[in-house]
Amino acid sequence: MSQKSNLKTNPDACPLASKCGGCQLQNMTYPRQLKWKQARVEILLREFGRPGRIIGMDNPLHYRNKVQAAFGRTRAGKIISGVYQSGTHRIVNVDSCMTEDETADRIIVDIRNMLPGFRIWVYDEDKRTGWLRHVLVKRGFSSGEVMVVLVAASGRFPMKKKFVSKLLEMHPEITTLILNINAKDTNLVLGDREEVLYGKGYIVDTLCGLEFAVSAKSFYQINPVQCEKLYAKAVEYASLTPDSVVIDAYCGIGTIGLAAAKYAGTVIGAELNPDAVKDAVSNAKRNNIKNARFYCADAGDFMEQMAAAGETADAVFMDPPRSGSSRKFLSSLIKMKPGRVVYISCNPETQARDLRILIKGGYKVEKITPVDMFPFTNHVETVVLITRVRAIIRTN
Ligand code: SAH
Repeated sequence: MSQKSNLKTNPDACPLASKCGGCQLQNMTYPRQLKWKQARVEILLREFGRPGRIIGMDNPLHYRNKVQAAFGRTRAGKIISGVYQSGTHRIVNVDSCMTEDETADRIIVDIRNMLPGFRIWVYDEDKRTGWLRHVLVKRGFSSGEVMVVLVAASGRFPMKKKFVSKLLEMHPEITTLILNINAKDTNLVLGDREEVLYGKGYIVDTLCGLEFAVSAKSFYQINPVQCEKLYAKAVEYASLTPDSVVIDAYCGIGTIGLAAAKYAGTVIGAELNPDAVKDAVSNAKRNNIKNARFYCADAGDFMEQMAAAGETADAVFMDPPRSGSSRKFLSSLIKMKPGRVVYISCNPETQARDLRILIKGGYKVEKITPVDMFPFTNHVETVVLITRVRAIIRTN
């Protein structure tokens, strides 16, 4: 093989690639994927300066700590479990995946193999018959705790005790097992009701030296190894001092703000999802962090109220969803005049749009670092440091 093609072609390419479609870059070696992502950020954020070198993984395989498998049958009646083919509701049978945690994959395959012996029927989305819909596994990479969630169409589980003891015997690493009931005709995986079959109903994991409790429903970063590097870069960019006032906007379960709390005076988090806010508050308590508080609000409304009340902050972390931030958020931020803004984004296109608004409002882009959060996929994450340069405020 020539050197050039060797660089392009991944000898370990996934056999399911053409059916699954989840790993758009899986035909490239990892160094090549990083080059591809670096070039993409350089193009999309070119007007703001040259990005630093992308932070990649030392070992990019099996990085996902959360694996979700849909269960179904082939036309011939064979039970299958895995991912939906990109853009369809057809299940691609997966035994192992190069992005997924290997323990999780083994548990899912063993559950699939156990079903006939326990006369468990898999759910049929069209006929709305059968029982088992999905299996979700979350593993704490640093704690080793493992949660398995069986998502079923009803709470009736005839051979429950036997099933639970057989599964635990095969996988003693499972620390909690949950039955989640989802009787609805919906694309959402999890239903509202759950029954804890074994263990405490959640796992605890350590991230950035802090403990986080993760339940079936709570949001948790799926690549903890890269997440720690991303947050470390964000905290470095914020240049905090013991009396800094810091806003963590779009804070989720509070991970960035809590990681920054020990370097700052006060941390104020804002997040729309009430469950995530509850998790943020209890995560602060769990880690005995007393200088962080969290509000359930639209980040734009929250910033507007802060600005109207004459409040200010030294640094603002913002980590909005793919659609980017809102005009209201950005114009209130400009009014509040924080010295440093650290903008984390999973979509450089909306980030570029928002950065243009901040620049008009008196800010300049200082540093850009891409981080590879999702190897083998075409997703890119960037962390950008923006600092205030002048007093003139123009928000249009
Ligand atoms: N900073 C967190 C979460 C980032 S994901 C972390 O690193 O884990 C983006 C978050 O923005 C999600 O938790 C989502 O619920 C929240 N969100 C979406 N729209 C929002 C809005 N308008 N106001 C506040 N939060 C919002």
